[in-house]
Amino acid sequence: MQIGMMNDPRCNATDEARWAAAHGLDFLDLTIEGPGADLEQIDQAALRTIMAETGLGIIGHTAWYLPFASPIARVRQAAVASAAETFDLFAALQARYVNVHISSTPALFSRADCLRWNGESFAHLAEQAATYGLHVMVEHPPSSYFSLDDISTILNADPRLGFHLDMGHMHVAGFKLKAVLEELGARLTHVHLSDNRGRHDDHIPLGAGTIDWPQVIATLKQYGYDATITLEVFSKDRDYLLLSAAKVRQWWADAALEQ
Ligand SMILES: [Zn+2]
Repeated sequence: MQIGMMNDPRCNATDEARWAAAHGLDFLDLTIEGPGADLEQIDQAALRTIMAETGLGIIGHTAWYLPFASPIARVRQAAVASAAETFDLFAALQARYVNVHISSTPALFSRADCLRWNGESFAHLAEQAATYGLHVMVEHPPSSYFSLDDISTILNADPRLGFHLDMGHMHVAGFKLKAVLEELGARLTHVHLSDNRGRHDDHIPLGAGTIDWPQVIATLKQYGYDATITLEVFSKDRDYLLLSAAKVRQWWADAALEQ
């Protein structure tokens, strides 16, 4: 199991990578978003130097607000093109995975339209990503609008799409982890963790909200998940992020003892 953090898109990504490596994190979940980390603001050479010197890994992350399910075809195509523009960078940084976020559609349109447009956009991206040796994984939003079946329908638009679990989003949506793993676990590729109180996607430190973390970590481990976990703890004081990382490592070790 590897633990990483997401860069704050308001900050310089090179500084964020340096901070992650200096504080013992295994990888940076590199989100390409403004105002501070848009594609043209990324210093690829500097990131490669940090990676070579420290062993820091990179997971690809694209802007969460890209309109992949817009009713307007040209807007969807622009969202796909914008996400695909990051592939060259991620491939150069030896990333294997890049995420995309399920997008909503105005209520005037049907659920079937929304699922189909998301699926079509992601299938196009899976196709393009393959030429870079990248895999696209789909992250669900912090909303109960999309059922687990809906997420499954979107993933089934292309067999290459992976499932990107966000525990904070699942808690807001009201899903239990065991049910999520039962339905989508076979395609589980990457995990995001942050806490909240079940109402809003607060991104608070692990243990500050109402998620039962020892149980979540044990469930993931016992399910056989042993890949990358990103902490999306967005507190101003980053001691809370580091404390969350230490706690995940401890819960993970405790879960092993219980098996
Ligand atoms: Zn997330």
